[in-house]
Amino acid sequence: MSGPTSAPVVRGRFAPSPTGPLHFGSLVAALASFCDARHRGGEWLVRIEDVDTPRSRPDAERAILAALDRFGLRGDGAIVRQSERTALYEAALARLAAAGLVYRCACTRRELEAGALNAIGERVYPGTCRNGVAAARAHAPQAWRLRVTARATSFTDRVQGRQTQDLARDVGDFVVRRADGLFAYQLAVVVDDAAQGITSVVRGADLLTSTLRQTYLQRCLDLPTPEYLHVPVATDDGGHKLSKNTHAAPLASGDPVPALLAAWCFLGQQAPTATPTSAAQFLDHAIRAWSCARIPATATLPAPRV
Ligand code: GLU
Repeated sequence: MSGPTSAPVVRGRFAPSPTGPLHFGSLVAALASFCDARHRGGEWLVRIEDVDTPRSRPDAERAILAALDRFGLRGDGAIVRQSERTALYEAALARLAAAGLVYRCACTRRELEAGALNAIGERVYPGTCRNGVAAARAHAPQAWRLRVTARATSFTDRVQGRQTQDLARDVGDFVVRRADGLFAYQLAVVVDDAAQGITSVVRGADLLTSTLRQTYLQRCLDLPTPEYLHVPVATDDGGHKLSKNTHAAPLASGDPVPALLAAWCFLGQQAPTATPTSAAQFLDHAIRAWSCARIPATATLPAPRV
């Protein structure tokens, strides 16, 4: 595999958090990112996002990798694990600190809960520690927050269209390193996508608003912004996102083709005329036939029964 300096035209990735087995929603994201990269002759990497070490489980990582293999979704190059990349995140935080873009925050959970809610019910950080931590908290555990000065931040998603957010009003200064010392997902993902030379991020639409934080962070760190494509998130009967945290059912073992076909149709893609007999045969069709113009431009869709 070539390094980031001689990056191919397209390099995509699938970046699961190992908190549970692969479920239908994560298969959709994996299949979409794989087909999108391969259809354009690009590379596809697998990155294990175990930055939140207390929530990550080795058995979940094993189950995810075994499932990807069973579905024929094999990445290029070695698998990267965020738990092994702390030095890169430290260096990025040091750059932000040197530029005066981050500050320490010793707010308690109760203080954070006093912040206003934005339109989608998320807490906005009220800026309590912006001008320094209160003396009484000097020895309390402290997070690091990124100083958000931007008002309207936008990007154009390849499927969902133009996305805009007033970061200062709707998010506030956000955490890049947690008070327990762990790096936040937002910082890790931005550092890793750049370090791995990712040109094309394809993932679930639940991360649409995170993308605005990530593009802001990319500008602060002087890193390139990849193109983004957010696919609909699969929801259960109650309209909730299928998620590893809420114990979404793992995919049935055995023949991988029915789940692949269900994920393919969920993505609005045209079914092959004859039912494929193997994952490899299905993927041959999928790589050729992939069309991102067919993906429904919606944030959620009910999951089919697989
Ligand atoms: N690790 C995240 C997840 O499993 C995905 C993050 C991303 O694709 O940027 O939901």
